[in-house]
Amino acid sequence: MSGWDRFVMVDWSGGNDTGPRPRKDAIWIGEAGHAPLYMRNRATAEAFLLERIGAALNAGERLLIGFDFPFAYPAGFVADVIGRDDPLAFWAYLDAHVEDAPKANNRFDRAAAFNLRQGGHGPFWANGLKRDIAGLPRTKANYANPFPERRACERAAKGSFTCWQMAGAGAVGSQVIMGLPVLERLRQRFAGQVAVWPFEALDAPVAFVEIWPGLINDAVRRATGPEDIRDAVQVRLLAQALAGLAPERLDAMLDVDAPVEGWILGLGFEEELMAAVTLKPPPLRNDCFALPPGVDWTPVDEALAMLEQRLTCVVGREPVPLAAAMGRVLAEDAVARRANPPLPNTAVDGYGFAGASLPDGDVVLPLIAGRSAAGVPFDGVVPEGRALRVLTGAALPDGVDTVVLDEDCAVEGGKVAFRGGMKPGANTRKAGEDVMAGAVALRAGRVLTPADLALAASVGLDTLTVRARLRVAVLSTGDEVVEPGSAAGPGQIFDANRPMLLTMISRFGFEAVDMGRVPDDRAALAARLDEASGQADLILTSGGASAGDEDHVSALLREAGAMQEWRIALKPGRPLALGLWGGKPVFGLPGNPVAAFVCTLIFARPAMGMLAGSGWQAPLGFDVPAAFTKQKKQGRREYLRARMRNGRAEVFKSEGSGRVSGLSWGEGLVELGDGGREIAPGDPVRFIPYGSFGL
Ligand code: AMP
Ligand code: MG
Repeated sequence: MSGWDRFVMVDWSGGNDTGPRPRKDAIWIGEAGHAPLYMRNRATAEAFLLERIGAALNAGERLLIGFDFPFAYPAGFVADVIGRDDPLAFWAYLDAHVEDAPKANNRFDRAAAFNLRQGGHGPFWANGLKRDIAGLPRTKANYANPFPERRACERAAKGSFTCWQMAGAGAVGSQVIMGLPVLERLRQRFAGQVAVWPFEALDAPVAFVEIWPGLINDAVRRATGPEDIRDAVQVRLLAQALAGLAPERLDAMLDVDAPVEGWILGLGFEEELMAAVTLKPPPLRNDCFALPPGVDWTPVDEALAMLEQRLTCVVGREPVPLAAAMGRVLAEDAVARRANPPLPNTAVDGYGFAGASLPDGDVVLPLIAGRSAAGVPFDGVVPEGRALRVLTGAALPDGVDTVVLDEDCAVEGGKVAFRGGMKPGANTRKAGEDVMAGAVALRAGRVLTPADLALAASVGLDTLTVRARLRVAVLSTGDEVVEPGSAAGPGQIFDANRPMLLTMISRFGFEAVDMGRVPDDRAALAARLDEASGQADLILTSGGASAGDEDHVSALLREAGAMQEWRIALKPGRPLALGLWGGKPVFGLPGNPVAAFVCTLIFARPAMGMLAGSGWQAPLGFDVPAAFTKQKKQGRREYLRARMRNGRAEVFKSEGSGRVSGLSWGEGLVELGDGGREIAPGDPVRFIPYGSFGL
């Protein structure tokens, strides 16, 4: 039975209470879509899990809970202790024999008792206590283990620890002895509603599975910043990975036969798990560019609405340090780790005191020795009726809530004098008045700016989870097109589109992949598209996009069965061949550089935003007076190469779509709506600077 709704991963600990402050080597619980939770001891964790399971059952949700310790021992041990190979019966046995309190437990004595059955030299080893315990060796000298050192899954999991080691780094032994009783109690409390994998059929609403974060070690390492607690990162990522898997892939991982020793979920599927950590979304649907039947000319707005509706994000996510985050698309909300400002502080240089106790009229306060400066706080209390020297940015010491500005004071003989009537709190900044700790500082989907990086830094973030950069392949087509600067015959033209499109893509913040030029030859074009679809998330071609004999891009896409010719009521532009090749969207742009440029700005760029995860963004335009005269025909949208001079929009002298010089002359586009219009100088027209498109 598949279909899990919630994924909760638990990083267990066999040790004692770890105190109120989140720290490593404690218990951490991660749930997909939530910040990891710190649990100071097992009792807290047990109470949390009790409640979490109850909530899932109430909500009718299926909950998969992973625990990072073995659910069973190497073959033979359990049978030796309880007389049969029944891991779950051993859980009950442990629950009956293990004592657990936050500050003390009997795990070493239990391990010693097991050892004494075998002569006292193993299988358990490493005594973490000061006192010697008969039967539990401190080291592996004279160690004797009649059972296998490792379970089959541990032999396959490189870097895993054995469940015999009770103390020291990787003391899995303690985690098992102290973990299984908790699981047994939860299991009994929700009898019939919890199934333990792989010992029981997964037909209950809740499943307990064994996990091991080592499987996604590389992803954890990449995602852990210097301030992060690794345990917290790994439960978060594992939960995210399992939640991101297709249900049938998770089923494949759960399909395991290991009734005696148990198994580690996902073992052998490490690459797939790590790919799921990046949550790469599913590819686009084959019919994403289909037009409604009977459509002849599609108005620009309708074409844009269709793109917005049908395109979805196609790139995964990755953590990046702040310094590398500029221009990237934020993949998840960035939550403030710390308030800004972290403490109440002074906004000016001056003198601080308790505001409530001031008399009206002129005030003279004796100064106390010392001062509070930014980063060097005053380490004492300022008594009522006294004042202290404070400098901008300094934390307000105890007893100070109000500051008077230097310029408003006279200081003499150890006293400060100023005019009263100040509001309590004047000239100070409250803690968190900018951003509170735990608040969303930046929303997912945002394209990060320098100011955003300042904000992230000020709330304690040094790593942001961003979308993988959208890779956009660029390909020129046409027998007549040759490399710029090469010896060109009379009928040949230089490839102007490729340098233009490649750099437009970089300016938009995407990764441009140069796929060169291809002649008008279907086989060669197909081969190049194959290559491009392997290297990019989107393919832009120019040339050959209409319906003529030599329009091989559209012909090929049509043959592949995933092509739509969008005849858009647009000048310059018109034919736009949209399709999928190898599952990747292809934008077949017109060959004319001017048309290719305009179509890229108007159609391809917002489409790329959808694919890249930043959502739909319309360019910002401004209504300005025209500096030109024009009679515009009804029925199509027009874009003119334009620039602002003396507060008016000038347009290029020619509308010819082969005039590359006009593109270079322009600093933006004038957009004229679909209707007919007569434009006289001074009439308002909409000017969109190239900068509004991200150029
Ligand atoms: P097509 O869309 O293939 O019919 O091409 C329309 C016009 O654009 C023709 O005059 C082509 O020669 C020209 N053209 C096509 N590709 C390019 C290119 N990469 N650079 C400059 N002009 C091109
Ligand atoms: Mg051509």
